[in-house]
Amino acid sequence: MSLSDTPVAPTTTLKPSLAGMTRAEIADALRALGLPEREIRMRVSQIWHWVYFRGARDFGEMLNVSKAMRAQLTEAFALRLPEIIEEQISVDGTRKWLLRLQPVDAFDKGAEVECVYIPESDRGTLCVSSQVGCTLNCSFCHTGTQRLVRNLTTAEIVGQLLVARQRLGDFPDRERPTDGLVPAGEGVRAVSNIVFMGMGEPLYNLDNVMAAIEIMADGDGLALSKRRITVSTSGVVPQFERLGAECGPALAISLHAVRDELRNDLVPLNKKYPIKELLQACRDYPGASNARRITFEYVMLKGVNDSPADARELVRLLKGLPAKINLIPFNPWPGAPYECSDWETIERFSDIVFNAGYASPVRTPRGRDIFAACGQLKSETEKLRASARMAAG
Ligand code: SAH
Ligand code: SF4
Repeated sequence: MSLSDTPVAPTTTLKPSLAGMTRAEIADALRALGLPEREIRMRVSQIWHWVYFRGARDFGEMLNVSKAMRAQLTEAFALRLPEIIEEQISVDGTRKWLLRLQPVDAFDKGAEVECVYIPESDRGTLCVSSQVGCTLNCSFCHTGTQRLVRNLTTAEIVGQLLVARQRLGDFPDRERPTDGLVPAGEGVRAVSNIVFMGMGEPLYNLDNVMAAIEIMADGDGLALSKRRITVSTSGVVPQFERLGAECGPALAISLHAVRDELRNDLVPLNKKYPIKELLQACRDYPGASNARRITFEYVMLKGVNDSPADARELVRLLKGLPAKINLIPFNPWPGAPYECSDWETIERFSDIVFNAGYASPVRTPRGRDIFAACGQLKSETEKLRASARMAAG
């Protein structure tokens, strides 16, 4: 089902889209249009406000911009977003969107990425992609089996948030949809958190990811707190310093194993940056503190990494680090060489982690019906929910 009226057209006929641009890029675009230098700053602020704060889809909406200027902007530019080509809504309110990106040339039908929205009662998390596919080949990850097509641009990353806010009525004076569980209430935004846990390795596209975060966190626009933006990495150690010092989002590490031998298998990047180096880079991550903990993700693979000894070693390794641990039940995919750990095993693992002082350890699987994943774990999922609530409360 197509929810957008934007047809895919060859780039040659497309006007540059200001939606997703940085302030500097918008200024350059206006300069190219011949606007006098003294006017540019003000125009950038106006456009910024309309696109990122109000969610305008048309230059005609920009009422504090003169009519002549609006016509000039319409003539020269567009406010184009990635197109939702498919939307699936889970019984738990999770939405998965398949987005088609703007074609790069006349022959390109437009690359596609996935973006997932996960509503909870007091927050809404948008899981965004940073690349089309991924060059790393983690053995348990479906994305890793696809060949990398390309890095996403800054505008395409920001575009995922803009599309989500448009679709969810998450701009001032817009209606929230009633066909799902979108959080409502005074001052509660439908999208309050971002996680870079969709397709791709964000630290292999660091410049665009950081530029996108700066736009998402801009107080005059999309206004998400950097503390609520989490970048998840499989461990591209040399990039941690820049990410922390220049941008400062929350960091999540896909650890998944406590011994190098096993981690080399699961996350092959470990051969380049082994566990010891990875954890040192975490200790050195600028801004990490007990108030700003690093999340360690650990996917539960039956008989592979889920023993009590693994749990005890995990706790030992993270000692002294400001850490949170997130246990992720494995989501199977066709041909996957693993199974999800049994509930009892996850519970035993999570108890060891919990008794060592880490709260909220199990990530509740969401939207399994639309991912067609972990379907056989339905009853276990109910238990996980109760347990996650207890751990959080
Ligand atoms: N490339 C980055 C971010 C995207 S993956 C990274 O690896 O961190 C986001 C998270 O989903 C990672 O922790 C990843 O290990 C995990 N993941 C990948 N495939 C999974 C699967 N089949 N089941 C459960 N978690 C998975
Ligand atoms: Fe998947 Fe992340 Fe590994 Fe890439 S780095 S293959 S996205 S888990």
